[in-house]
Amino acid sequence: MIAAPGGGKGTQGERLAAKYGVQHISSGDVLRAQVRAGTPVGREVAAFQLRGDLVPDQIVFGLLTPVVAAAAARGGYILDGFPRTVPQAITAAELGRRLDLTLDAAVYLNVPDPVLLQRLLARARADDTAEVIRRRLQVFAETSGPLIDYYRDRGILVEVDGDQPPESITADIKARLP
Ligand code: ADP
Repeated sequence: MIAAPGGGKGTQGERLAAKYGVQHISSGDVLRAQVRAGTPVGREVAAFQLRGDLVPDQIVFGLLTPVVAAAAARGGYILDGFPRTVPQAITAAELGRRLDLTLDAAVYLNVPDPVLLQRLLARARADDTAEVIRRRLQVFAETSGPLIDYYRDRGILVEVDGDQPPESITADIKARLP
């Protein structure tokens, strides 16, 4: 699932996972769990998240790989928030080949910026302050275009209008999944 901050990755990820009976994995949640646990890596993660910057790939891959591998062994997963950059997508594809995983679809929820802002300011997570939101939207703007093109080039991009009621978005995605 690819979407800007506030784009609905989490909501749709959970709905789709429930419908398909697979695990929903949010990269942000996996990282935040380390922050909550107060581990050394969690302290590193917190610094990046609170600035709205991407967490370094080494940390992200280290924490996510075992979670994804375990979910794959149980029948599949909906991954939200990862990959977020083309280099992550390339490394993820290599890892996927080694673990014998295939990526069926990359779902992009397209939502206009004013709607994103409205949703994020209503949510009030620790990284949902106006300044950090601006930085997260900027990071998304810089990285998402190439990432979306990467999956479009590979013929697996599913782009849907993310500015609709949640049920309609889920229905649109389901209708377009392979
Ligand atoms: P949002 O999409 O609203 O920013 P997430 O929970 O997906 O919310 O991500 C929150 C933060 O977690 C990001 O700003 C970033 O610091 C970190 N993060 C999440 N996924 C990744 C990733 N794939 N690579 C690097 N950092 C990530």
